[in-house]
Amino acid sequence: MYLPQEIIRKKRDNEVLSAEEINFFIQGVANDIISEGQIAAFAMTIFFNEMTMEERIALTCAMRDSGMVIDWSHMNFSGPIVDKHSTGGVGDVTSLMLGAMVAACGGFVPMISGRGLGHTGGTLDKLESIPGYNIMPSNEKFGEVTKDAGVAIIGQTGNLAPADKRVYATRDITATVDNISLITASILSKKLAAGLDSLVMDVKVGSGAFMPTYEASEELAQSIVAVANGAGTTTTAILTDMNQVLASSAGNAVEVREAVQFLTGEKNSRGEIRNPRLLDVTMTLCAEMLVLGKLAENTDQAREKLQAVLDDGSAAHCFGKMVSGLGGPEDFIQNYDAYLPKAEVIKPVYATSTGTVTAMDTRAIGMAVVSMGGGRKVASDKIDYAVGFDQFIRLGEVADSQTPLAMIHARTEEQWQQTADELQQAITLSDEGYQPTPTIYRQIRAQDL
Ligand code: URA
Repeated sequence: MYLPQEIIRKKRDNEVLSAEEINFFIQGVANDIISEGQIAAFAMTIFFNEMTMEERIALTCAMRDSGMVIDWSHMNFSGPIVDKHSTGGVGDVTSLMLGAMVAACGGFVPMISGRGLGHTGGTLDKLESIPGYNIMPSNEKFGEVTKDAGVAIIGQTGNLAPADKRVYATRDITATVDNISLITASILSKKLAAGLDSLVMDVKVGSGAFMPTYEASEELAQSIVAVANGAGTTTTAILTDMNQVLASSAGNAVEVREAVQFLTGEKNSRGEIRNPRLLDVTMTLCAEMLVLGKLAENTDQAREKLQAVLDDGSAAHCFGKMVSGLGGPEDFIQNYDAYLPKAEVIKPVYATSTGTVTAMDTRAIGMAVVSMGGGRKVASDKIDYAVGFDQFIRLGEVADSQTPLAMIHARTEEQWQQTADELQQAITLSDEGYQPTPTIYRQIRAQDL
């Protein structure tokens, strides 16, 4: 029998906790026996003293096991159960295409996604811009659609990792969110409760990333790979760039539109077939999913398979099946424009002078979407699915009187003007040379640690 205050004292004094002590504490959190004050103190001791990898593994497993852990064995899937998670970005619509692409290559992707957080967009919010799409189906329906379409993207039920829900809520109000041990366990406990064979983690780097520096992103990526593999789920992390909006659009319906165009090969808002950076990130993540799931022998073969399912329409078909399976229109892929909401004022915004785009405050751009109503300032806010940006300019391009910074989708002229001001401030133009940053920085597999 342990005492919560003794466990907190031990960690306060920088001693290493045993898996039993961590289990006891987390079970007490899940059962409401441990108070909010004790959770706060526990989180603060970890904030100052960090945890060893063994402690992080124990914390992750304890939080994962605090609720339902999905067991897919009765579904007899004919391929591996694989998933991807991202630390969050702006214009990061990869999940929508990635799930369908991997499904078309023989994987099964039961993806439990989140809503927008702070300046970052949420996959669930994007999908909810599709009329009828149900993000909270029954467990049976979730399994059925995953089996039939190969992919189902839904929201988290209260029953998955409930201890993390309590711990996170306390961290949020006690300045203990930004700690690598706690972030690792929080993200992974939820993901690993989905009963995956393997996971690819997209850890963002740059001005729109959750972690403040490249070094911090890399440290988080290494922690996630060590802990997830230690907890028994084969996991690779990939560090990708978030120094600019990833897609050509940012918002909800605008990103869904781009995702469908990406899958079908139709031209996007910039008149090109697939935004090259979005393609690079999506392909890299998908290829690693195929390799980890043993659906391809190596990355080159994986990329060939992925290109084939884009070219022959089977990835788009999987996406359409997921949408209709979860209550959306049967003909969404063919007629997406008839279903997605549109804003009243859609006009380009130009820079106030001519110059090369050398930097973007991607966080501020994400917040501009939130200000328009495309994200939430408080949890109870209702989302406006129609607002956002498309035709987004990229780093290294010249903004002039012909080339806008973006097309703003706003509800009113006044909202358009306010957003235009915010965007002009968030994008830096210069005549000096632009130093490109990589789209993919680094891949960290278990064997690289
Ligand atoms: N996202 C999570 O789910 N948990 C964290 O701790 C941080 C980001």
